[in-house]
Amino acid sequence: MCTSSVFRCRIFFLILLIVFVGLGVVSSQPVPRHEIGIVVHGGAGTILRSNMKPETEKQYRDTLTHALMTGYGILRNHGTSLDAVEATIKILEDCPLFNAGKGAVFTHEGTNELDASIMDGRTLKAGAVAAVKHIKNPIALARLVMDRSKHVMLTGDGAEAFAKEQGVALVPQEYFFTQRRWNDLLKAREADRKQDSLNRLNKQLNPVDTSESKHGTVGCVAIDEQGNISAGTSTGGITDKRFGRIGDSPIIGAGTYADDSTCGVSATGDGEYFIRVGVARTIAALMEYKNLSVQQATEEAIKKVGKLGGTGGAIALDKDGHIGIYFNTEGMYRAYIDENGRPVVKIYND
Ligand code: ASP
Repeated sequence: MCTSSVFRCRIFFLILLIVFVGLGVVSSQPVPRHEIGIVVHGGAGTILRSNMKPETEKQYRDTLTHALMTGYGILRNHGTSLDAVEATIKILEDCPLFNAGKGAVFTHEGTNELDASIMDGRTLKAGAVAAVKHIKNPIALARLVMDRSKHVMLTGDGAEAFAKEQGVALVPQEYFFTQRRWNDLLKAREADRKQDSLNRLNKQLNPVDTSESKHGTVGCVAIDEQGNISAGTSTGGITDKRFGRIGDSPIIGAGTYADDSTCGVSATGDGEYFIRVGVARTIAALMEYKNLSVQQATEEAIKKVGKLGGTGGAIALDKDGHIGIYFNTEGMYRAYIDENGRPVVKIYND
């Protein structure tokens, strides 16, 4: 071929490329391979329509919608499910309505001890922190544990030393004060005083109080356009907790789990029961080994909690974007994007 025909050939292909790019046939953006999806919860418990003031309900709905849409926006902009889960949970942690971050409940001693965990379903890597007292956004620290340490769970002072090393600013305990949660503690202390010491010990070992004041944990599960599933959970635990009590939320397999081959899960409820059942991993295992759908698996695990006497619920999202939600309480703050791409927020048992 002579030089001029090579040149004409090159020009022809160049024009062809320009036309394709113009038509959107060739694009620099990654081609979406998977439907994106996201589901959020803000705790389960005795949440009754008859007890809810309209303005309070609006605040819950608005915050859940804002958190959901923030995560969804990250997914739509080709972001990862890990980033979506972290950003969504941070918004709920910063809102005093929920028992996580700013709205955390008080321990028996009048302090706040926070727990959180996050898991990456692509690598099965996970990070968690427990009983931290000065971390504004525990979910972000859990992510740092996953990304920048060789460990899965750090607790208390050690977790905070790690936070300092990572350049995370610590906040004073006063940051977590809210009058509502303080009143809950005063009520719980009063109830404690009325019991003899044996009953008190029983209560610590078998917490059965399902009042709303003991719930409000937050969680999120998302799947990104690469088909990667991530899940996270953050909580202040339960009001009046003692002796360094830690619940299910920071425990991988109990409060949080994610595996791209099955689903992601975030749970909420009476932590002791969720630990004993290993709720989050049970849901994934029921899908993996028994071929249950994500909804069936979620129901089965929570029903097992119920049989033992525990209350609560879980949200889950499978690898095809199907959502599983189930709770055995009167209500559960929850939000998700439906199949038409619209946000849905629900609170009560309907
Ligand atoms: N599961 C949390 C805990 O036991 C509390 C909750 O979800 O309401 O610490």
